[in-house]
Amino acid sequence: MLKVEPIPAFQDNYIWAIHDGESAAVVDPGEAQPVERFLAQRGLALGAIVITHHHGDHQGGVADLLERHPAGPDGTPIPVIGPAGERIGHRTQAVREGDTVTLAHPAATFRVLDVPGHTAGHVAYVGDLPGAGRVVFCGDTLFASGCGRLFEGSPAQMLASLDKLAALPGDTRVYCAHEYTRSNVRFAQAVEPGNADLSAWSARVDALRQAETPTVPTTVAHERAVNPFLRSREPAVRRAVQAQGGDVSNDAAAFGALRGWKDNFR
Ligand code: ZN
Ligand code: FE
Repeated sequence: MLKVEPIPAFQDNYIWAIHDGESAAVVDPGEAQPVERFLAQRGLALGAIVITHHHGDHQGGVADLLERHPAGPDGTPIPVIGPAGERIGHRTQAVREGDTVTLAHPAATFRVLDVPGHTAGHVAYVGDLPGAGRVVFCGDTLFASGCGRLFEGSPAQMLASLDKLAALPGDTRVYCAHEYTRSNVRFAQAVEPGNADLSAWSARVDALRQAETPTVPTTVAHERAVNPFLRSREPAVRRAVQAQGGDVSNDAAAFGALRGWKDNFR
């Protein structure tokens, strides 16, 4: 049986640990020290490193982790899995959409989706894990109630990437890489003040953050209900974007205008 647990890093990053009580795979270790502390606290061996995209806050800890762990539980070097289209230091397996990732320690299988937009080669890892159910590790593409900034991709690319994630089964848990939910919800409420699911979620987010509890993972079904970036074709969202002076003449333009609104939202 597998468990997925957050390892908080930097100000608001989550490094995700997938473990079976003996060995752990870590997703997007931007720094090594919190990972080391987590492994030591739980008596876990490091078994694999999985990267969604090239940004430093997602791969900056890889070198230190490999130095501390020259071999995994089976005595061979620890695999470092990352997107084929990006520069990932120490990568041993380059993956793209359609590929299957099979981890040995812990035993887990993922299929890879290309989700460009935040970065050009960003990938997501989709799995159905014994004990943890359906999961997606989506880095900085889809956030709880938000999405990543378009640093290297077009609105059309990001919209297509988010459409892929939104099409996953509704009970898929969304493991994103940042705790941005509170500010994302503030923006979402400016876009859709009449969304009752969103109002209820906003109250829940306030309570969770008050208690310093992570708001993630959420689920795909939940994101479809509250996340404006998965709802950019909804009439209410279109009207709000248009009221801001945004171009809503086609799906990509409307999505781009929505993302631009968020970029400038205070
Ligand atoms: Zn990033
Ligand atoms: Fe990030």
